[in-house]
Amino acid sequence: MRTPPLASGPEGADALRPLLADILDALDAGARARGGPLPAGGPAAVAARVRAAVGEILPERGDPAAPHTLVRILAEGSADPAHPLCAAHLHCPPLAVAAAADLAASVLNPSLDSWDQAPAASELEALVTRALAAEAGLADALVTTGGTESNHLALLLARERLGPGVRLVCGANAHHSLPRAAWLLGLPDPVVLPAPAGTLDPLALDEALARLPGPLLVAATAGTTDAGLIDPLPGIAARCSAHGARLHIDAAYGGGLLFSDRHRPRLAGLDAAHTVTLDLHKLGWQPAAAGLLAVRDTADLGALHQRADYLNADDDTEAGLPDLLGRSLRTTRRPDILKIAVTLKTLGRTGLGALVDEVCARAQEFAALIAADPALDLYATPTLSTVLFRPTGAPDEAVALIRRRLLTEGHAVLGRARLDGRLWLKATLLNPHTRPDDLAALLRLVEGHTPA
Ligand SMILES: *Cc1c(COP(=O)(O)O)cnc(C)c1O
Repeated sequence: MRTPPLASGPEGADALRPLLADILDALDAGARARGGPLPAGGPAAVAARVRAAVGEILPERGDPAAPHTLVRILAEGSADPAHPLCAAHLHCPPLAVAAAADLAASVLNPSLDSWDQAPAASELEALVTRALAAEAGLADALVTTGGTESNHLALLLARERLGPGVRLVCGANAHHSLPRAAWLLGLPDPVVLPAPAGTLDPLALDEALARLPGPLLVAATAGTTDAGLIDPLPGIAARCSAHGARLHIDAAYGGGLLFSDRHRPRLAGLDAAHTVTLDLHKLGWQPAAAGLLAVRDTADLGALHQRADYLNADDDTEAGLPDLLGRSLRTTRRPDILKIAVTLKTLGRTGLGALVDEVCARAQEFAALIAADPALDLYATPTLSTVLFRPTGAPDEAVALIRRRLLTEGHAVLGRARLDGRLWLKATLLNPHTRPDDLAALLRLVEGHTPA
């Protein structure tokens, strides 16, 4: 058998062209076979179709049709975030330009653990991370796999700055990855303040900060996962500064508002944080992974310094080779910055801001449709692009059943959230191509699945 061609090098492009055409055909065939936002039939049916299509995964002799077979079955069995009725999670439809740029990252395969594996990628990363940090009013940023890793790093940097006794204080509305990071880092048990209104109350925070022995790390949220709410950041920042507590803001969802002239003012107070989590695979339309942790004081990053002679020998660093190892806890690291850089520069602030404005406007329109429908209850006017609603008077079990039936029948992907002691259907609108008609159709589906 001929040695298979490589993705880069003199034959790379010629080898890739037919493969890519085949992959694009398979994506199309799979999406047609699905015919909706997700595959019908539920987990058992999807698993059976995947098993039947895959057959033996490591056959004795290779199968040249495998790329088509596997991509087609993946596409057929996907929940496609580009479908307007796929709106459960912070699961964005990636921009074509970002996905195309990501191909170049796979082809060239730069690894950001040493300069000799990523000469240009390391400079691009330095430029883009500083520019994005500056958008948030901070000094520099690390590239991460997403909000979870960013939150983890934020707690690690706080621990290295304040000592192993630092205690996390957050609201019950905070992302699960924050208390989990405290557990992972062996920190004291977090103090989780009740957040009945869905946001962290500065007065309750003030009372806790006055009562708790330090050192303390407060984590606020700009864009809660459940309801898309923004904690009152200026008030929280003022309490932290008054009590000498460190502040982390998890803006994994809401950080995208920075691109919009219209919505950016709602992130006032973000620049008061010591660290900020950003996640461009949410309101940034990137394929995962595209996380960042922005820091105010670059000296905090010294905690990650690491020396490995094969990657950043002292004499290499002294001779001017950039030292990349301390920019992550990972070693081999993809240039996720490339697709981000390509997106920022191709769309510009105006282009990205328009996408943010579009999905926020769609959420307002969707909420208005719900509010006008006597058969539905709206949780609240949306802050970001999340809309929570439920059939009026339905018991929680009926709400859960509606969601599962829409899923298993392949009609719609909606999320769920428990707030106010009740279960709500959650639509997280991240698709700027969704039209008001799609949203009306979504409501008809929900009503059609509501038990009389
Ligand atoms: C999504 C989310 C995270 C986790 O981000 P991942 O990219 O999924 O790791 C953290 N915090 C908030 C507020 C989020 O919405």
